[in-house]
Amino acid sequence: MDNLSVYFLLSDDGFEMSFSPVNDNTLDVYIEFMSIFGELEESNLNISPAQVATVSLKNNLWAFIDKYKDKVPVLNKLKSKIDSVENDSYFLILPNKPEDTQKILDLELYLQALSSTDDSSKVQNLFFQKRDEFNSHFEDLLKEYNLVNIRNDRRTYIGERTKSKRVCRFCKKSENDGATFKKVAHAISEGLGNKNIILYEECDACNEYFGANIEPTLVENLDIARVFFGVKGKGGVPSINKYKDSKLFQNDKGSVIQAPKIDVVSEKEITVTLVSHKKYVPINIYKALCKIALSVVDQKEIAYLEDTISWMKSCTPGANVPKVAVSLDRGSIATFPSITLYVRKTENYNHPHIVGEFKAAGFIYIFIVPYSRKDKCSFVKEEEFDSFWRFFPQYSASSDWRFDDYNNSNEIELTEKLRFVQNDKDQA
Ligand SMILES: [Zn+2]
Repeated sequence: MDNLSVYFLLSDDGFEMSFSPVNDNTLDVYIEFMSIFGELEESNLNISPAQVATVSLKNNLWAFIDKYKDKVPVLNKLKSKIDSVENDSYFLILPNKPEDTQKILDLELYLQALSSTDDSSKVQNLFFQKRDEFNSHFEDLLKEYNLVNIRNDRRTYIGERTKSKRVCRFCKKSENDGATFKKVAHAISEGLGNKNIILYEECDACNEYFGANIEPTLVENLDIARVFFGVKGKGGVPSINKYKDSKLFQNDKGSVIQAPKIDVVSEKEITVTLVSHKKYVPINIYKALCKIALSVVDQKEIAYLEDTISWMKSCTPGANVPKVAVSLDRGSIATFPSITLYVRKTENYNHPHIVGEFKAAGFIYIFIVPYSRKDKCSFVKEEEFDSFWRFFPQYSASSDWRFDDYNNSNEIELTEKLRFVQNDKDQA
């Protein structure tokens, strides 16, 4: 036995724990632990993956945790996870966390099926029904891609915890090479409201470079939206003075715009024109999106993204990157920004290696991570981009997208035209 681990799949969470180092001692503890969830018959453990969090199971587990928590500290974390499972509801127990997204999704659907009926003979059919429904939308996509969904509603740390073992993903330096890891590096800029997703594998020098040169462009691009949706950055909701003779801020009544050019289009519609005296470099928006993707992607993909990193860190113009799809987020406006990645698991080069979905301040951005060594085309050509876009029906089914071209390394002036239309429902 080379691996004493167990994976818990809960209705809205998953938790993997392992007993290490692997030796006779930990093996005994592991067997005692697993016996809580099943029967030991001769020398075989009979454990059903479907478990019910009964009061008696919880009590047995608490007793075990009390006995071993000092030797196996991860048990404290397990306790808080299982504690949050409602009494008598289902969870799954598996030997390892499945690597394939499709498998995890199947298991999640199975758990949903288990939880939605008291009649065990119906579970199988319910599961097949749920899976067919899901597959009708996503089957093709999930054959090609694994999904990386980063929890943003609680602290999530990415990469190696111990500083002396860390290697920066962007410059490959460790403490031995002179890199330092004193600052807390955020996978998504704090200015966009991210408090929870922390990247261990970003050295202070890279953190400073991205923070000074790349990330502010995306943050500033979302300034107006941040004021309107009340997204708190480092210093609370921003007050914006970068537009000529204009001011945007929030007071106790809501969002306020003061601008020199306000046109009344009709009784119900006005437009406000804002001209920024701060210029911006469009390509940096694309680089900032890629910085987020590379911060959360699995370490093993980074080797294919060396050219992407060089591009992100160089100032030389002449980039040739695909369009970025941008839309208003019709769902509820999340408090925290979020990132989801699609990472191709096949060798089908018609589809990009990595596609990102970034949501912040009421906007969604869908972008391809360019220059991957696992790509054979650039998706800049119309037909290449179109075939990529059609492969993601959850996005392409809607026509609400704007396709931005960020291929410009020069500073340009930013002019925003805001259109306000009175809603018949709020006549106030
Ligand atoms: Zn670095």
